[in-house]
Amino acid sequence: MLPALRIENSLRLPDNDQWQLRFHVESENSNRLYVIAQNKKKRYWACSCPGWKRHRTCKHLIALRIPCNETPYEINIINH
Ligand SMILES: [Zn+2]
Repeated sequence: MLPALRIENSLRLPDNDQWQLRFHVESENSNRLYVIAQNKKKRYWACSCPGWKRHRTCKHLIALRIPCNETPYEINIINH
């Protein structure tokens, strides 16, 4: 069985060409929202925050226990 992650419906975003299972996470230090999503083809997870863009790892993915460094990972997102 795939690991499950509960995401509030209000944070979910529609898929686009490259990304699926998109959702917002709130920044701890500001009101900014970042987007976490899974790459449709390569299956890895990414975050729109500066940390992930620079290092391909960030605290948002780590907090959600999603692997960083463009590691393919399947997950079951449950809305609530
Ligand atoms: Zn992040």
